[in-house]
Amino acid sequence: MSISSAFRLEPHEAPVAAAERAKRLIDPGFGRVFTDHMAVIRYSDAEGWHDAHIGPRGALPIDPASSVLHYAQEIFEGLKAYRQADGGTALFRPHANARRFRDSARRLAMPELPEALFVESIERLVAADRDWIPEGEEGALYLRPFMFASEVFLGVKPAAEYLYMVIASSVGAYWKGGARPISVWVSRDFTRAAPGGTGAAKCGGNYAASLIAQKEAIGQGCDQVVFLDAAERRWVEELGGMNLFFVHADGSLVTPPLTGTILPGITRDSLLTLARAEGMAVREEPYAIDAWRADAVSGALTEAFACGTAAVVTAIGTVAGADGRFTVGDGGIGPVTQRLHRALAAIQRGQAPDPHGWVHPL
Ligand code: PMP
Repeated sequence: MSISSAFRLEPHEAPVAAAERAKRLIDPGFGRVFTDHMAVIRYSDAEGWHDAHIGPRGALPIDPASSVLHYAQEIFEGLKAYRQADGGTALFRPHANARRFRDSARRLAMPELPEALFVESIERLVAADRDWIPEGEEGALYLRPFMFASEVFLGVKPAAEYLYMVIASSVGAYWKGGARPISVWVSRDFTRAAPGGTGAAKCGGNYAASLIAQKEAIGQGCDQVVFLDAAERRWVEELGGMNLFFVHADGSLVTPPLTGTILPGITRDSLLTLARAEGMAVREEPYAIDAWRADAVSGALTEAFACGTAAVVTAIGTVAGADGRFTVGDGGIGPVTQRLHRALAAIQRGQAPDPHGWVHPL
C-alpha cells in the first residue's frame, strides 16, 4: 500500500481537557495513563495491509473465537518518544524496534509489517498526542505497538487476519520511590526460554510464562526474577523484562550473548555501542550464576545492572536464590552503571550529541 497517502486521521471529537490531562501527568508512574488516540492497521491474506488510520482510543469488539484468545498469536514492541532539549520531540531508534517486530512476526508465523509503515504509525500517533509527554527528568511517552490474530476461527494454524495497533502511555519514573538498586531472585524451578523456542521474540506468551517466576521473586522479597538457561540451569540469561550487564574490577563489561533464548534489547545494543566507543573492553559471553556469586564475593565483579526501554538502566544491589544471598559491590549504584545510564539518557533527551544517529526527530 502507498503509505503516506493511505493513513487516515480521525481526530478524537472529545479529547481529554487540558486541565484534566495536566492532572494525570503529575505523577503518571508506568503504564496507567493513556492518550486520546491510537493507530490501527488491518491485515488479511486477501487484502494485505489496509485501513491504516489514527482514531480515538477505545475498547475493541472482540469475537470470542478470535484466534489470539485461544492460541496466543500476539507480538508487541516498546519504545519511547522524548521531549528534546531544543523543545522538539524525538523517538529513540524506532527502526530497530521495527526490525525486531518483523523478526517476532516471522517467528510467530504472522505477516511482516513493512518497516516504514511501523515507523509512520508511531510518528503519526505521537504527532496527534504530543501534549501527553510529561515534563520532568524521567517523563516520556511510551509507545506500545502490537499485533494479534483477529481471525474468527478455532483451527490451529496461522490466522488469515490480524490487527496491528499502537497505543501510547504517559510515563514517569518506572520504579516507585525513584532510582535505587534492585534485588533479584534467581529462579531454579522456572525457565523463560529454550533453544528453538520463542525467547528472542517479543511475544505475549513469553511474559505469560514468566509471571509465576516473577511472583515467586516478589514472594521472596525481591524486585525482579533472573532466568537461567533451560538446558543446564547454569548460565545467566536475563530478567523478565530487562537484559543484564556485569562490570568487572578490570574495567571490562560483559553481557550474555544473543543465542536465541534472550531478547535482543535495543538498550543492550545501545550500551554496548556506547561502552565500545568509550574504549571499554566489552564482551558478549556466557556468565555462570556460580561465577556471579564467586566474583561478587571476591570483588572481581564490582557492578551489575539491568537495562531496557522502560527503566533504561537499573543497578542490581542484591542477588538471592535457593543457595542464599550475596551483594554486588557495596550494594549501591556503581560508577560505571551511573556513567553509562547518564550517557544514554542524555542522547535520548537531546542533551548530548548523537554520533550513532539514534535520535529520530518528529
Ligand atoms: N528482555 C526482555 C524479556 C524484555 O521484555 C525487554 C523489554 N523490551 C528487554 C529485554 C529490553 O529490551 P529493550 O532494551 O529493547 O527495551
